[in-house]
Amino acid sequence: MKNIAILGSTGSIGTQTLDVVRANRDIEVRALAAGRNIRLLEEQIREFGPQLAAVWEEEQAKELALRVRDLDVRVVSGMEGLLELAVMPGYEILVTAIVGMIGIRPTIAAMEAGKDIALANKETLVTAGHLIMPLAEKTGVRILPVDSEHSAIFQSLNGERQNRIHKILLTASGGPFRGRTREELKHIRPEDALKHPNWSMGQKITIDSSTMVNKGLEVMEARWLFGVSMDEVQVVVQPQSVIHSMVEFEDGAVMAQLGTPDMKLPIQYALYYPERRFLAGARLDFAKLGQITFEAPDMVNFEGLSLAYEAGRAGGTLPTVFNAANERAVRKFLNGEIGYLTITEMIRTSMERHRTIPGPSVDEILAAEQETYDFIESRW
Ligand code: NDP
Repeated sequence: MKNIAILGSTGSIGTQTLDVVRANRDIEVRALAAGRNIRLLEEQIREFGPQLAAVWEEEQAKELALRVRDLDVRVVSGMEGLLELAVMPGYEILVTAIVGMIGIRPTIAAMEAGKDIALANKETLVTAGHLIMPLAEKTGVRILPVDSEHSAIFQSLNGERQNRIHKILLTASGGPFRGRTREELKHIRPEDALKHPNWSMGQKITIDSSTMVNKGLEVMEARWLFGVSMDEVQVVVQPQSVIHSMVEFEDGAVMAQLGTPDMKLPIQYALYYPERRFLAGARLDFAKLGQITFEAPDMVNFEGLSLAYEAGRAGGTLPTVFNAANERAVRKFLNGEIGYLTITEMIRTSMERHRTIPGPSVDEILAAEQETYDFIESRW
């Protein structure tokens, strides 16, 4: 029996994690945390019976506590609640399926308490990779990647730990606007950007995939997870989303993981690593697929990716600024306040005016995040 806790149980990754739990029947869910969707969280509490549940707002926590008063579950709120959940005894793996930098503190707390991390919350590594990876080394906890590309790299490295990675080939679908010019991108509306050709995901990451900002965040995530430099991670566009990423070794051999696009595979792999379990769902049919094609990413029209390389190479607080500016920009775009191309303009301008602090502490990371939010509010 495994025991897990989930941060962000009501989201896309959170609900798919619970699908994996439901299908396997040998995982106990000890704690669940969500933001605002207490209706779904209540259903999850009733089905999975955790002993602790966390929601962000205190008022909502009170309402949820009232709704589940017939059950043996305690409801907590705010950052304090997330931290209490992170360190509670009785579970071994924390699934970080929360969106945004809010995941940093609970992830660090859980690691210090000796919990393995099934990491979907890429913002944690993008902004605090220089703190997280040494902490993993020190505490001996495992960081098990949930992001499909990173899981593919992790799987490609099985049995290869003693060999040096020559290059990581991070695949990208290219998103729904692949091949479009800047002029054509100008008029993209939220409803167009929310249609991803291959993957079904949360709203923010779907927009990030369309701008290639998500791929940029993934390059930074990969660099920390696998101990390589930004320039040892090369993005390869593979529009069918069949190859989930590859590793090239020093002798030129390339290892890859292929499969249908289904997040349940990397989630289940992280929860049961190194064991593989049966997973229901579509399988690859190569005859039907016919071909797998490749191209170089368009870093000019999709400036988000080149800005990410710039932020990652500079390091320090610059990746935080990249991430925070994008977070606000995406929210404004979804609210209809700004145009599509303003997303990368906001990132670029925020990065240009920031004075990078090298090797920042968590407080300095969070201060850089706030400074970026304030700048964006004052400027747009
Ligand atoms: P969603 O938007 O679908 O879900 C986000 C989750 O975080 C929800 O459960 C939400 O709760 C919760 N949440 C938000 N704010 C808070 C808060 N303050 N306190 C507690 N919980 C909170 O996102 P995704 O599942 O798509 O993505 C989650 C993370 O995984 C992101 O970092 C993303 O980049 C990464 N990822 C996602 C992939 C995917 O396929 N979706 C693939 C790879 C990585 P509520 O809805 O109740 O407000």
